[in-house]
Amino acid sequence: MILIHACCAPCVSPILDVLSDYHVFWYNPNIQPYREYRRRLDTLKKLRDERGFKLIIDNEYNLQEWLEKATMLNRKSDVLRCRYCYADRLDRTARYARDHGYDSFTTSLLYSPYQKHEIVREIGNNIAKKYGITFYYMDFRDLYPRGDEIAKRYGLYRQGYCGCIFSEFDRYGVMRDEGKD
Ligand code: SF4
Repeated sequence: MILIHACCAPCVSPILDVLSDYHVFWYNPNIQPYREYRRRLDTLKKLRDERGFKLIIDNEYNLQEWLEKATMLNRKSDVLRCRYCYADRLDRTARYARDHGYDSFTTSLLYSPYQKHEIVREIGNNIAKKYGITFYYMDFRDLYPRGDEIAKRYGLYRQGYCGCIFSEFDRYGVMRDEGKD
């Protein structure tokens, strides 16, 4: 049995077509603002209701702690900020997997070409060693062309930015500054 960390419904949905014997795990305190967090979680619940998989929800959302750590790292580089964000989510997933008898864990972060793929892979492997459990690595980016079609089929909300307010600004603030907005 594999535990799949879902960063959002559109990214995890194509993965569900190629894996079997899984449960899905939600833990994403990086999504801001809070109404966006709720919207993405509600979208995943909608997908669960359509497809009938078991969804485990870890709703811890410590905004202040997350922002303090991410902001401190962001002063040095966005890569360090994202490393913290990936490690936080994968650590929580792996720990749950180990404590509840799963054989392995993976993440839908391996699906998006917009994520730092090799860093996700490296962190997944390191956390797997820490907990003595297998990190199920697959380059899910090959599935990316199917994402739109699946999202349309299930009527899934597709967000325009990764999750944190830094990524929201990178997407929309830069567009505005360039006069595209
Ligand atoms: S850009 Fe995405 S992965 Fe990086 S810190 Fe923000 S939410 Fe996390």
